[in-house]
Amino acid sequence: MSSPASQSRRPDLDSLYCVNPDGSRNTIHPADVKGRFQARKKIVWSVLFVVWVVLPWLRVGGQPAILIDLANRQFLLFGATFNAQDFYLAYFLLTGVGFSLFVLSALFGRVWCGYACPHTVFLEGFYRRIERWSEGSATQRKRLEAMPWNLEKVLRRGGKWLVFAAFSAFLSHNFLSYFMGAERVLDAMTSPPGDHPTAFAFALVFTVIIYVNFAWFREQLCIVICPYGRLQGVLYDEDTVNVGYDAKRGEPRGKYSQGERGDCIDCFRCVAVCPTGIDIRNGTQLECVGCANCIDACDEVMARLGQEPGLVRYDSKRGLDGLARRFVRPRLLLYAFLFVLGATVFAVAASRRTPFEAAIIRPQGTPYLVQDGIVRNPLFVHLVNKQPRAHSFRIEAEAPEGVRVLLPRTEVELESLADERISFLVEFDRSVYEPELQVVLHIRTADGGLELHPSMVLLGPR
Ligand code: SF4
Ligand code: SF4
Repeated sequence: MSSPASQSRRPDLDSLYCVNPDGSRNTIHPADVKGRFQARKKIVWSVLFVVWVVLPWLRVGGQPAILIDLANRQFLLFGATFNAQDFYLAYFLLTGVGFSLFVLSALFGRVWCGYACPHTVFLEGFYRRIERWSEGSATQRKRLEAMPWNLEKVLRRGGKWLVFAAFSAFLSHNFLSYFMGAERVLDAMTSPPGDHPTAFAFALVFTVIIYVNFAWFREQLCIVICPYGRLQGVLYDEDTVNVGYDAKRGEPRGKYSQGERGDCIDCFRCVAVCPTGIDIRNGTQLECVGCANCIDACDEVMARLGQEPGLVRYDSKRGLDGLARRFVRPRLLLYAFLFVLGATVFAVAASRRTPFEAAIIRPQGTPYLVQDGIVRNPLFVHLVNKQPRAHSFRIEAEAPEGVRVLLPRTEVELESLADERISFLVEFDRSVYEPELQVVLHIRTADGGLELHPSMVLLGPR
């Protein structure tokens, strides 16, 4: 059983605390902590969790507020509808979001990881609590881990794993709601698995992945897998505000009874509460997820000793070194510029989307046919309704004198996000042909509110 003190005695700072030298897992049992940052995190996590659970049930204009319908290549977002043709917008959206995280990291380090990352919200806000209720405090959990399998261990561990499995199934189904719609997921849940085999398989696989991650893999995801976590080292600079230890104030550390010493009493409380098992007094480390547990733990110790809080605190390296802090720095301006650029391009491109699309397309193969002096151009018009409701469209052809447009249909009814290709033929006498000859289609919604006018140059023999 490892004591809090032994937790900081890692072999060297180049190894991970959660991995033993032989490669096996070193399970971390962080101690409970209370404090101002814990209270703030609880509020943020509760709000985020409720929003995440409720969003798939919300409807805007009769449609789900958010639906990522991969099967039909459709995306509904608060009343706006996007289809495969709008996919390029995702690039600008993702780069904008990515650079907003860069700005946040340059300013406040891993604040996203500690407060808003879904992995943290679920692990620290739910799974760790379930574990606490089932197996007790950190000391009791370590005792349980070390003891041989007996009735108590079977009941406590078994109970925890059952609740973990049920909660993982809930997370999995809610996650699926974003892709299938909440009502369809509910319908699948209340039907035999054979009625919805694909949904059942996905729900099962996601449940297993979520369970394994939160029951066992845990902090290793942040340390070993998460690409955002890996990027942190290059996003920080000396003015990035992070969780840090004030060595000028704390050192030389020593027991309270010792004479000449700094404010750190070497109690290891900051280590005992760390979910990644590190000692913040060794400086900023790869494993630190910015959870601020060590700040609350040390403030508690300082309060008991009648000392000022903040021996471990949010501060920049320059701040901890006693130097003036700088807010505006070149890297921050660069990240902010890239973020604004991505967000602006996305906003402009999204605002220029047309509520429906219409394009005249020439089919592959023979571009035109000539028969008995008549030239025929086979074409089709591709119509896409990108509106949240069904619409009917009227098609009217405009062509130069001597050119005939043979449209099989002039009225087309399309469901929301549906599309249709309507083949038509344009014919004219060979003598009428000239290089810039073209046909125009005037396509309007039945109420006349929206219209597009695609055109196509006609081909013929010279
Ligand atoms: S060092 Fe502090 S802020 Fe970083 S992960 Fe550990 S407890 Fe959280
Ligand atoms: S909790 Fe504070 S006083 Fe105790 S070891 Fe950590 S930094 Fe030192």
